[in-house]
Amino acid sequence: MTATVYMADLRSSFKDNLFTKIARLLERVGLADGIQPKALTAIKLHFGEEGNASFIRPILVRPVVDAIHALQGKAFVTDTNTLYVGTRSDAVSHLETATRHGFNFPVLNAPVLIADGLRGNSTRSVKVGLRHFSEVKIAAEIYNADALVVMSHFKGHELPGFGGALKNLGMGCAGREGKLSQHANVSPKVANKRCVGCRQCLAWCPAGAISLNEESGKAVIDNDLCVGCGECIVICPQNAINIRWNETIPVFQEKMVEYAYGACHGKRERSFFINFVMQVSPACDCYGHNDMPIVADIGILASRDPVALDQACADLVIAAPGMPGSALGAEIAPGGDKFRVLYPEVDWQPQLVYAEEIGLGCRSYVLEKI
Ligand code: SF4
Ligand code: SF4
Repeated sequence: MTATVYMADLRSSFKDNLFTKIARLLERVGLADGIQPKALTAIKLHFGEEGNASFIRPILVRPVVDAIHALQGKAFVTDTNTLYVGTRSDAVSHLETATRHGFNFPVLNAPVLIADGLRGNSTRSVKVGLRHFSEVKIAAEIYNADALVVMSHFKGHELPGFGGALKNLGMGCAGREGKLSQHANVSPKVANKRCVGCRQCLAWCPAGAISLNEESGKAVIDNDLCVGCGECIVICPQNAINIRWNETIPVFQEKMVEYAYGACHGKRERSFFINFVMQVSPACDCYGHNDMPIVADIGILASRDPVALDQACADLVIAAPGMPGSALGAEIAPGGDKFRVLYPEVDWQPQLVYAEEIGLGCRSYVLEKI
């Protein structure tokens, strides 16, 4: 099987700008086939943690809303609460952050709502019968939506290697319980030789699982309290926190993909995926900062197949020359696997292999430039 991935480059003119290009992408992926009149259509986004500036700009969501309205669908813009302490861990702070980042009615022409409720426990069970989960807990308003448009900022990520459509669908559409079960086998350890006792990981840990040993002055993780969110791994400025990558990463990726399968189960024919390969930062928009991009902006890609879409985006980033002065260091030659340079222990491919195996999509694609 081969999927079609449509790509708009970022050249622009008076006649054809980013807005007309996004509208054309939606036409080409057949949005009209999936949106019936009055269809409650979830536009799944990531509103960005406070301090981050690399999330998808709200104004670029507007053409998606307009296209859904033109088909007489009812659009709403949505995301789920986070596991970790931050500015999006409950619906109130999440909506405040979204508003501050420009995700509001005057810009979007659609309401914003948090799909898993006030505290992240508003979910519905979806039977999947897969290797790790017999059922998954999907955010209620994603489950309840008639159709789904998943808009993802494509960038690096410390656990799956990159974050794209599968990550946005799998982790991003899960309620709190679902996020926890995906992270359950991520149990980090502190390397005492590297730890300088700066306490940054203590402040960031959502579970209060890290303390400082009074005698040694080093951080200690209580595995009974740890929920495996993985945040401390990236937060530590000394790279003192690590996990057993070989055992952990493939299982984490498979669980994430099973959730992705569940998130669009029942509306697979009414699910559409758009990846923005722009401001490709090394890490997730969940952090309150975004390091400089690792490649120049590449384009906007869309498909009905999230697996082919992520594969195509990864291939384009790898093929591009790396950005001098970025987190890639000296390894900027075109063709180098930039995700492996950023996260040497993480193989990003298992998520795509497993997603193909369970029938979520295929890795083989034809890239059609529009
Ligand atoms: S110890 Fe690390 S992985 Fe565990 S809950 Fe705290 S921040 Fe998350
Ligand atoms: S952030 Fe790193 S260096 Fe600082 S206390 Fe935690 S483990 Fe130690």
